[in-house]
Amino acid sequence: MSDIHVLEAVVITLSFRDTLTYTMNSEIQELCERLIPAGYIQQGAQARRIHENKIRHFLQQRKLPEEGWEDATIELLLQEFSLMDSNNFPGNCGVGEREARIASGLVARRHFRLGHGIGRSGDIAAIQPKAAGSSLLMKLTNSMALDVLKLSGVQLVAGCFVVPMATGMSLALCMSTFRQKRRKARYVLWPRIDQKSCLKSVLAAGFELVVVENRLEGDELRTDLVRLEEKMKELGVENILCVLSTTSCFSPRVPDSLEEIGSLCQKYSIPHLVNNAYGVQASKCTHLLQQAARVGRVDAFVQSTDKNFMVPVGGSVIAGFDKTFVEEIGKMYPGRASASPSIDLFITLLSLGAQGYRKLLHKRKDMYIYLHQKMTVCAERYGERILQTKHNPISIAMSLSKLSSQDARLITEVGSMLFTRFVSGTRVIASGGTESVIGGRTFRNFGAHYDNYPCPYLTAAAAVGMTTEDVDNFISRLDKTLSKYYRSAPIERPSCDVKDIPTNKGEADIV
Ligand SMILES: *Cc1c(COP(=O)(O)O)cnc(C)c1O
Repeated sequence: MSDIHVLEAVVITLSFRDTLTYTMNSEIQELCERLIPAGYIQQGAQARRIHENKIRHFLQQRKLPEEGWEDATIELLLQEFSLMDSNNFPGNCGVGEREARIASGLVARRHFRLGHGIGRSGDIAAIQPKAAGSSLLMKLTNSMALDVLKLSGVQLVAGCFVVPMATGMSLALCMSTFRQKRRKARYVLWPRIDQKSCLKSVLAAGFELVVVENRLEGDELRTDLVRLEEKMKELGVENILCVLSTTSCFSPRVPDSLEEIGSLCQKYSIPHLVNNAYGVQASKCTHLLQQAARVGRVDAFVQSTDKNFMVPVGGSVIAGFDKTFVEEIGKMYPGRASASPSIDLFITLLSLGAQGYRKLLHKRKDMYIYLHQKMTVCAERYGERILQTKHNPISIAMSLSKLSSQDARLITEVGSMLFTRFVSGTRVIASGGTESVIGGRTFRNFGAHYDNYPCPYLTAAAAVGMTTEDVDNFISRLDKTLSKYYRSAPIERPSCDVKDIPTNKGEADIV
């Protein structure tokens, strides 16, 4: 029986032979009825059937449920899955070198006794015969991930799978797949994004980075399409592995001009890989992807599971508009893979449901507006301003021009003082023009996406899961920090501490 048939058979077992697997076995029910009044047992069985119906519906549709599930339903399904894996078969006699033996009970529970991981040595999306439950979980997670990508705006997406590697490694896997068809290629064209993982992903895949510097337009740093096309002609199409573009990034850089890059890639027949690290949460990024695929070429795009779906770091989703090609990437994955990121995403998506995720997306948009307003007030108080980067839907930058831009130390101090005040995630960028060597290459002002941005600045991101309390605390601590450096801050300007901010009692201790 082929892999698919094994899976289909299991799904059919789960969906239709429910008297065996799900509904409390009628014999057991009868036995229970001899112990306590039958009416109570029937009521209990009826309550159980509510969970089972959700599970049946889910297995029939294989879609992200509209409404989120209770933990009890999710646990019931996970329990059923783990009982189907051979390591949990009563009396199983494993004589292989990999039998999902787990020494610690704590570790076994942390993984719901699913120990076999996902995939087979030659394909991360293959069914594992020893682990029907883990295989089901993998298939269903990938299918829900596809729904969530569509829901967030990439309606044309045709296939995707979860990989137990963060975004950088997954980008490298995609590039290794491109190599199979482009043996001569040595270069990856890279509109500059100052995030080390992107750069390292190119080096890890064994390619040479060709940096395409950004273009400053107003306050925004945008893709230099003219330079990009020049590079394509200059290096020779067959020598170029792909263009690696980016959607989500720190302001004042904005998402790359994806449509235009997609068109250029189509025109010159060069693969296009998109780093959509935290772009699933922003409709601007997902629409760019959708449009780029419509008018041009996008071979694959990669997003982080932790940044978009609020799970621990460790996974990403590799997706594309050509199902067969996405499958090819899965076949490049060497060996079996950890199921952990899939389990986390499986639980999270079932728990949120489509409604829950949509709600998070709306809330994030509101938080962006709120953060923008609050940062604007705070900036004005110190004679600074918010950089005009309206094409960046997540990250907001505030100038720090009044801090002597010659003295990079002061700027860095602001950053570390915020950190000691328990503010994490802000980035403070000086405009001094220091050089650093990253992956064997010299960059000027690495972190700024640009050699000489006109002013120093600080960034903050309105990412999924952020609360008004996070914003309020950030602004109040930012205000305290800046007041130390901007001694001449005009007092008559309104304070950043607007009345409706709940006061943080512990804050006085945080210096
Ligand atoms: C997070 C991120 C990455 C990838 O980092 P990983 O640690 O590999 O997930 C790449 N690019 C950008 C823009 C990112 O934000």
